[in-house]
Amino acid sequence: MSDSIDEGAGENTYAARLPLPSAPVGRPVRIPVHRSTTYAFATSQEYADTLGGATEGYSYARVDNPTADAFAHAVAALEGARVPGGTRAQAFGSGMAAISTTLMALVEAGAHVVASHSIYGNTYSLLDGLLRRFGVRTDFVDITDLDAVRGAVRPDTAVVFTETLANPTMVVSDLPALAGIAHEAGALLVVDSTFASPAVCRPLEHGTDLVLHSATKYLGGHSDATGGVVAGRPELVERIRAARIDLGTGLAPDEAYLLHRGLETLPLRVARQCATAAEFASALAGHPAVARVDHPSLPSHQGHRLAAELFDAGRRGAVVTVTPHGGRAAGMAFADGLRTAEIAASLGGTHTLAGHVASTTHRQMSDDALRAAGIGPAAVRFSIGVEDPADLVADARAALDRLAAP
Ligand SMILES: *Cc1c(COP(=O)(O)O)cnc(C)c1O
Repeated sequence: MSDSIDEGAGENTYAARLPLPSAPVGRPVRIPVHRSTTYAFATSQEYADTLGGATEGYSYARVDNPTADAFAHAVAALEGARVPGGTRAQAFGSGMAAISTTLMALVEAGAHVVASHSIYGNTYSLLDGLLRRFGVRTDFVDITDLDAVRGAVRPDTAVVFTETLANPTMVVSDLPALAGIAHEAGALLVVDSTFASPAVCRPLEHGTDLVLHSATKYLGGHSDATGGVVAGRPELVERIRAARIDLGTGLAPDEAYLLHRGLETLPLRVARQCATAAEFASALAGHPAVARVDHPSLPSHQGHRLAAELFDAGRRGAVVTVTPHGGRAAGMAFADGLRTAEIAASLGGTHTLAGHVASTTHRQMSDDALRAAGIGPAAVRFSIGVEDPADLVADARAALDRLAAP
């Protein structure tokens, strides 16, 4: 069979099968968006061999898509350039698609998971709700307390799960130590590195087995595409690919294109955002209306020393949590007083976003539970964008001054 239809065909046959141009001569500098959901073969044998995996090639979009693969390939290069043995990656329709598919590929009924108690809300409910219904038991621990982690890990532990930088306190996980504890028990260390991005930290270089991202955040970087990705050793990623195909959680080609384009400016954006975040944190730490500022650039922060060991020079993440004196109302008033920063969910984009933590991302938690997690009732989380640092500092100072005024 060929892709050209003979001239005697009826008009509908002719219209439906207009010839496709051959691949352009020349090397485009950007990736094409491959929207075709299916691929034609010259023979039944070729179709059978491709579907069966005997011959390399694309067959059906849910199985593999070249644009999604291009994005995954690029992330593997960013996360794994210095990892011996090679790094592969798989792309997903969202960060949660990447996390849920990865965990389902790694655990079975009766398996045990040890997870940080300060992880993304939907990861928490996935482990504590949906996966528990399927017989997966998760113990949540203070991930900064290595003795507690050691005490929670058991011979049947399949996965130790944490985040490089925790939301909203920016607590840093000791990845080499956690990898040691996990591997001693025969478990895998799986790390959600969304808040760091590979421009700040590459967990695979520090003993982590699999690194995950919500690509919706820093990788895409412009708040206009939803996706996720996991990277690690080829044999682990191949297991996750099989689960992705069964679950249908892969990344769509248009989103893949935007996310791939975002990667090109990732270090430019993130270096700038991190520098501004450090400036913002130190400028606000001394304001009389402020009780506390959380950012690893500050010497008082839990992750100050660890970040110097694990993160790229001068980059400490670009989320800063500012906690004014007072209760929930003070936090909401602080956020409402901002003019440059926008009140919005998400992070990692070019716009600076702010959100009152206790009434939004952590709304299920009481003041006592928040306090136990190191979060004040008035805490406001900032995702620092690419605006001029002086404007962001002036905006936050003005909102704080308004708060203090009678
Ligand atoms: C946003 C986020 C997720 C979920 O990603 P989606 O793309 O929204 O599915 C997971 N982990 C962290 C740390 C996140 O910030």
